[in-house]
Order: sequence, then C-alpha cells, then structure tokens
Amino acid sequence: MAYSDDKINMVHGAGGEVMQDMISDIILGNLSKTSVNGGIGLESLDDSATIPLDDDHVVVTTIDAHTVQPLFFPGGDIGRISAAGTLNDISVMGVKPVSLSNAMVISEGFERSDLERIIKSMNETCEEVDAAIITGDTKVIDSDKLDSMIITTAGIGIGKKEDVVRDSGLEVGDKVIITGSVGDHGMAIMSKREGFGYETELKSDVAPVWSMVEAAKEVGTITAMKDPTRGGIANALNEMATKASVGMRLDEERIPVKPEVEAVSDMLGIDPFEVANEGKIVMGVKADDAEDILQAIRKTKYGKDAEIIGEVTEGKRVIMETLIGGERLIEPPIADPVPRVC
Ligand code: MG
Repeated sequence: MAYSDDKINMVHGAGGEVMQDMISDIILGNLSKTSVNGGIGLESLDDSATIPLDDDHVVVTTIDAHTVQPLFFPGGDIGRISAAGTLNDISVMGVKPVSLSNAMVISEGFERSDLERIIKSMNETCEEVDAAIITGDTKVIDSDKLDSMIITTAGIGIGKKEDVVRDSGLEVGDKVIITGSVGDHGMAIMSKREGFGYETELKSDVAPVWSMVEAAKEVGTITAMKDPTRGGIANALNEMATKASVGMRLDEERIPVKPEVEAVSDMLGIDPFEVANEGKIVMGVKADDAEDILQAIRKTKYGKDAEIIGEVTEGKRVIMETLIGGERLIEPPIADPVPRVC
C-alpha cells in the first residue's frame, strides 16, 4: 500500500491507530466546539455522543457512512448493516435507539429492484428494535464517480443519564464478556470476495445488539461496552483498556471462533481478532454480576454463544493465555486488514 504523509490513504479509513491519529490531528485539531451541555462529545471518541436535556434525560446520537462491498453478502447486505451499524453504536451506550435518518448516494444505473431489497432489509432490521426511519436524503451521481452506493445513517436514542454506559468505565476486577463468535463479518466479506465457496457456512453476524444490552442491564451492572467493528476485538479491547488505564487477562480457550472463520483466517493469514464484527458486544461487567449477565445474554436471539473471556487487571496490557499454555500480547491493529467491510 503506497503511503504518503500528505495524502489520505485506505489505511486512514480502516479503524486502526493511523485512523485515530488522523481524527486527532485533522478533525479534532480543527474543531472548536465538540460537545453540548457537558455531554459526551467528539473528543471522547466513544460509540455515540450525548446531549443532556435536563438533570435526568439525555439524547444519544451517532452517524455512520456505509461503503461495504459487495452490497449483498452471506448473512446480510448494505441495508441491514447501515441500520444495525448505527443502531448498535447507540445501543452500546446503554440507551435504546428510537430512530434513524438515512442518506443515500446512489450510482446512476443502479437496479431499482436492488434498491428496494436494500430498503426492505433496513426496515426489517429497524423493526427488530422497534426503531423508526424518520428522515432522509437521496442523491444520484455519475456511475464513473461511484461504483454502487454509499448509505449514511444517523441514529438517535433517548434515555436517562444513569443508563449511559461509556467505553472507558472498566475497573480492575471486572469480568470481560464477548456476546458471541468473533471475526464472522470480516471473514464472510473476504471469502465472498475471494470466491472461496464457503457461502453456505460462513455468514456475517450483522444484527442489532439492543436485545442483549437490555437483557444484561436487567440483571447486573455493565461498567463499559463497545461494539467490536473495524479493527475487531483486538482494537475494541485495547481501546477500552487504554481509556480506563487498565490491562486485561484473557483466556483464548473461551474466545469463540467458528471453525469456518478459523479456516478462512488460516488461508488468508488474517487474524480473526482483527476483523470486523457487526452483531457483537465486548462488555466489562461487575464480577459478582458476570454469571447472571452471561446467562441473560445467552437467552437472547443473538447471544447464545456468549462467554466470559477474562478479567480486567492492573497494568496496561491486554494479555491472552493461549491454548498451548503460553501468553500472547493482543495489540491494537494498525488497520483492519479487510477494506470496505462496513
Ligand atoms: Mg462502535
């Protein structure tokens, strides 16, 4: 990959450290007001921002652009991902998403039937969490300027201040939960692109996560959470640890990876911990509540394979005890190895 300090490269959009540096330098460095009423603002780089309305209530808001290729992939499509991606960034703040706004930029010549399929898919995904699509915008541009379509969705959630969970709240002794198998989305996209013929087994996990958040909150305390999208769990775990100035000790045996994900991962030399998930949550929970929260998540539609994968420790490193009895440092990836994944 050609790399120049003066140009934006693919790696700047890939969810890793290079992207974080660009956000700090060029975006945050040139904006003067980045939060409202003392709420969570842009500088927190959390999954969503908050606007406190009064002493008790907050609006939670976020926005995501979706450029996934191909538009239709095993387990989902750009419609499902552009709804779930944004609904999930609201959900992992601990607040129920209520609405989406939907802006589409479509390439001239796009099939009407494909557009209809995509909108129906967005609708079905919103129905799962009873969220509404309340406003939008549609633009069509020359087919030599855009290969298919880009969908940008903004989400809103409304809740109580005490409901808000940040990604920075981990404390030493907390247990770490992952709500299911890792790497499914990134590897499904990769295998479809490479034409591996795994389409029947390997599916994207793209799904709305709200039901798992709701179930967990009912039975215990979540101290921090994030959806491990670009950069995978390696990125999410490190971001959460760094923000809280803590470390983690994880058990590889307990981190669920599907055999078909493992197979594609071996073939491509891509670490399943470093690729995107689109229907999972990494959660820090109070140790005393961990088992109850785990069982509650396992009863939900998308949480059957949830596991307690380790605990929060002193120190600043995310360390995994490997299957063969060694130790491996889990580092934040420089970039997600799979471009245009979401
Ligand atoms: Mg997120």
